[in-house]
Amino acid sequence: MKIELKQQFQIESARFLPRLPATHPCHHMHGHSFKITLTLTGEVHPELGWLIDYNDVLKIMKPLLAELDHKVLNDVPGLQNPTTENLCIWIYEKSHAMLPVISRVSISETSTTDCSYPA
Ligand SMILES: [Zn+2]
Repeated sequence: MKIELKQQFQIESARFLPRLPATHPCHHMHGHSFKITLTLTGEVHPELGWLIDYNDVLKIMKPLLAELDHKVLNDVPGLQNPTTENLCIWIYEKSHAMLPVISRVSISETSTTDCSYPA
């Protein structure tokens, strides 16, 4: 039986979006508390009755998120233009390669917005 879990993480990071005009507020250095939600999709283990141990996901995600937490995202290789869309794709590609049950990454940069990849 296929099931879907969600697991949340939070990081604090700084960024600026250099491709936007200087008149746009995001062109300038600023910070976000990014709320990251992973969607985990797969089969329920017939004996254990679960999909995966959240702690195993945490072990995979910890070093990856350490590359981003309390960092300037523009300094991270691959994130020279660290829009939330690009951050979402960056986290998905790295985390999904290590843990294929990660089927989607969603990021809220504010309490009223959300970005997901894959769409
Ligand atoms: Zn921003």
